[in-house]
Amino acid sequence: MTAGRRPVRMCVRCEGLTTDPVIVSEVHAGSGPGFNVYACTECAPHIPKPPDVLDLLE
Ligand SMILES: [Zn+2]
Repeated sequence: MTAGRRPVRMCVRCEGLTTDPVIVSEVHAGSGPGFNVYACTECAPHIPKPPDVLDLLE
């Protein structure tokens, strides 16, 4: 981690980079670390809560 560097994430909706990401979904793998899905603050309110993501992984 570099001090002073802000995290940059790609918005899942507009695919733009944002330094102020909002987590819109958390994906948990069966084993090992999961990952988060991010959106920018403009898109976050427009993203519907995903249906059962865990079901898709099974
Ligand atoms: Zn966006």
